[in-house]
Amino acid sequence: MSRVHNFSAGPATLPVEVLEKVQSELVNYRGKGSSLIEMSHRGPEYTEVHQQAITRLKRILNADEGWNVLFLGGGASTQFLMLPQNFLNQERTADYINTGSWSKKAIKEARLFGNVHIPYSGEEGQFTHIPEDSELNLSDDATYLHFTSNNTIFGTQFRKEPASNGALLACDASSDFLSRPIDLDRYGMIYAGAQKNLGPAGVTVVMIHDRFLEKILDGEKTPTMLKYQTHLEKLFNTPPVFGVYMVNYVLEWIEEKGGLDYFDEINRKKADLLYGEIDKDDYYRGTADEGSRSFMNVTWRLPSEELEAKFLQEAAENDLVALKGHRSVGGIRASIYNACGYESVEALVDFMQTFRKNNG
Ligand SMILES: *Cc1c(COP(=O)(O)O)cnc(C)c1O
Repeated sequence: MSRVHNFSAGPATLPVEVLEKVQSELVNYRGKGSSLIEMSHRGPEYTEVHQQAITRLKRILNADEGWNVLFLGGGASTQFLMLPQNFLNQERTADYINTGSWSKKAIKEARLFGNVHIPYSGEEGQFTHIPEDSELNLSDDATYLHFTSNNTIFGTQFRKEPASNGALLACDASSDFLSRPIDLDRYGMIYAGAQKNLGPAGVTVVMIHDRFLEKILDGEKTPTMLKYQTHLEKLFNTPPVFGVYMVNYVLEWIEEKGGLDYFDEINRKKADLLYGEIDKDDYYRGTADEGSRSFMNVTWRLPSEELEAKFLQEAAENDLVALKGHRSVGGIRASIYNACGYESVEALVDFMQTFRKNNG
């Protein structure tokens, strides 16, 4: 059986090596007579996997001792509320850069807990632009600055971390986590739903640094499950074991391939190939500003909606699937995360050339 070229934005394609490995030990995990996901989350087998995933993640990111790693449920969307609930109140202000739908959702939750200042909003420009530092109108003493490193829907991405006027960065990295090296020194927190670049849906990676925890609120009125301290102290409740199990193998795969430097290079190559095709003439039109383009989610339009529908249908007939743009923006979107191979992007570009020739 052959697999399709899957450009899904999320849940997204996973390394076939990882799927096969999980398949091979799903019924009988290492001679134990049951799968890992049928064992206690406090037993030695799962504990080893959980710890291994934390160790691997920190090694891949070159994270220092001060970083704490949590694997939580509730998706990245729950972090939209947990972050401000634990760090923001009416006496404090957080800066939130607004670069798209996910940023807006994070801002909406933060306003429930404290003061939110927006140093930049891309909304009037239909979120096609990522601000330069000079475009940011930052607060004087923000408790943190929140940004969405990659905007899955609009196909834009920060090339580097934004200026923050000394505030620690809190980043929603759901759709570009582990796609390239990052300098963690300015971060207080970074979180990512696994289903884009890291594993199956159901687990969210949350990394919090000790220097940020110095600012955590005592949270007297905060429900137990929503306090970071609850999860930092110990494994409080059943973690999303299947997700962590698969994430651990994806992390192993990342290391075997050559770590973040490898993915940085190959992801650039994939994006260059695809944007190169889009930029050849006016037939395909990239929707993001050139300097703001995402290396993970590539978005473009065709001359008409009829041609876009035809493009999607014929692409699918050629095993190129999940290319439809997000319902809020339309057009075409190819999500080319770590596990989407170079050969899939080549197949897509070949198809784009043929389609242009036949329908130009
Ligand atoms: C998908 C996505 C989310 C939402 O993640 P859930 O796990 O579904 O809550 C948040 N932020 C970004 C940038 C995303 O791409």
